[in-house]
Amino acid sequence: MNGKKSWPLLTAVQLSVGLMLFTALLPRVSLSADIAGSAVAQSCEACQQFDRLNTLIRDRKIAKAEARKEVRALLPVIREYAVHHGAGEYPRGRWVFPVEGLTMKSAGDNRGADYVPSGYDYFDGNAHRGHPAYDLFIHDRRHDSLDDRTGREVSVLSMTGGIVVAVEREWDTRSRLRGGKYIWIYDISSEALVYYAHNREILVGVGDIVKPGDTIAKVGRTGYNAYKKRSPTHLHLSFLRVKDGYPKPENIYRELMRAATVPANGSP
Ligand SMILES: [Zn+2]
Repeated sequence: MNGKKSWPLLTAVQLSVGLMLFTALLPRVSLSADIAGSAVAQSCEACQQFDRLNTLIRDRKIAKAEARKEVRALLPVIREYAVHHGAGEYPRGRWVFPVEGLTMKSAGDNRGADYVPSGYDYFDGNAHRGHPAYDLFIHDRRHDSLDDRTGREVSVLSMTGGIVVAVEREWDTRSRLRGGKYIWIYDISSEALVYYAHNREILVGVGDIVKPGDTIAKVGRTGYNAYKKRSPTHLHLSFLRVKDGYPKPENIYRELMRAATVPANGSP
């Protein structure tokens, strides 16, 4: 199999098996974040556990104390995994505005009026109160989730670095789920869970490692309220600092005002 003469005789199966072996033998720390994410995603068992836990919490199928205990136990393991697999530390000065081409001003800045943390409890799941989030609006008067000026989908970018710990890829118009198709990313630098909701399409998987500016989704209108006619198309963004297993909302208005804008480049 090594000689040049036998090369044309390799079947597609042999080639792909060879590639898989080659990939498996590569030292993981030297892989780029993207490749590392897809190649090892399955092995972040703690991330998969968090994903299942998050769904139980969302659907109110687990007691609060029990859920908190699990969050407290899982996040340090996830952090360890992420660091071991090349996740970088990104301080807030490196954050990227989470919608491509937009700034806080062009995304409908209302000086923080939509950030309402009171009454919110992560462990209330889909029945939570409050709105500990920013709604970042795209230009979409037609409500087709495409930018009115370019006719293109709009990318959701990871604001922070971190690791994907939960995703929901499925949503249909009869669903009562408010978040629609969503992503939770654990930012190991701030020890925070970052939530991106109402997406049209999810482009990352549980266990993927991301850096600020990586494309993770496309802006959409999924979710019980976001789907309704009266709702302008937006990304719903929450930032929850986790202290002792309890994710609590933090106001990141200042950071969003300062975050770097990534120009829309018409990526596919
Ligand atoms: Zn919202």
